[in-house]
Amino acid sequence: MSARSLLIATALTVSAVTLAGCAQPTPVPTEPVPSVPPVAEPAHWSYDGESGPESWAGLDSAFQACEAGTNQSPIDLPAAVPAPSSSIELSAAEADGDVFDSGHAVEFESDGDGEALTFGGNEYSLQQLHAHVPSEHTVDGRPAAAELHLVHADAAGNLLVLGILVTEGAASDALTPFIEAATHLSDDDEVTLDVAAVLPVSLENYEYSGSLTTPPCTEDVQWVVMGTPISMSAEQIGTLADAHSHNARPTQPLGDRTVVGGTAELESED
Ligand SMILES: [Zn+2]
Repeated sequence: MSARSLLIATALTVSAVTLAGCAQPTPVPTEPVPSVPPVAEPAHWSYDGESGPESWAGLDSAFQACEAGTNQSPIDLPAAVPAPSSSIELSAAEADGDVFDSGHAVEFESDGDGEALTFGGNEYSLQQLHAHVPSEHTVDGRPAAAELHLVHADAAGNLLVLGILVTEGAASDALTPFIEAATHLSDDDEVTLDVAAVLPVSLENYEYSGSLTTPPCTEDVQWVVMGTPISMSAEQIGTLADAHSHNARPTQPLGDRTVVGGTAELESED
């Protein structure tokens, strides 16, 4: 036996002992085993390879809409925002929440009281904000450096996602608390975001009916994508990319849908 194989043998013995040490007899459960079948974990999906976007529908029967759906997101948006035909009211209250890693994106989850908006007579409140690097929506075929999704829900659970495209340039002070928390995602930090300050100067936007851009690709999601991008510094975008990059679903066919234009009005709430 060479010195090398002796080392391996020793290592194996140590692992065997460790394993044996773990193999404690399992205590007999005293509680009755519930007869309710366990809820199935959703299938693992990713942005690459065998569990990537082209394969999502085949990974889980709950993901069928990813392939069979006809109103999917993201899409390629026209170069110019169509003339506004509606207006969104946005209330500018700050939002408190936690920043964590969802497994697919850096995400801020709102505590519940914060930014709200009224669209088509329905009131939606901010649930969470997350980042994609690069952007998911493209404009005239071109992706932006990143895209923020502000996911809103109304009382009935209908979803509206406000998309904000990001180009590289000056740092966004409003996003600093989110970015700083993204550098130490294991800490459970409470973060306050001034959502109104995150928005671009011009609030003209693209509006269309689409879907979640991640499995299960559920449709009937109202999309509002700001026509003017915001800027973030290369360092800020780099911080998000260090956590998750390439987390962008390819654009989907527009089909029979129409992209319309809209505007938004900010109301400050004191
Ligand atoms: Zn998203």
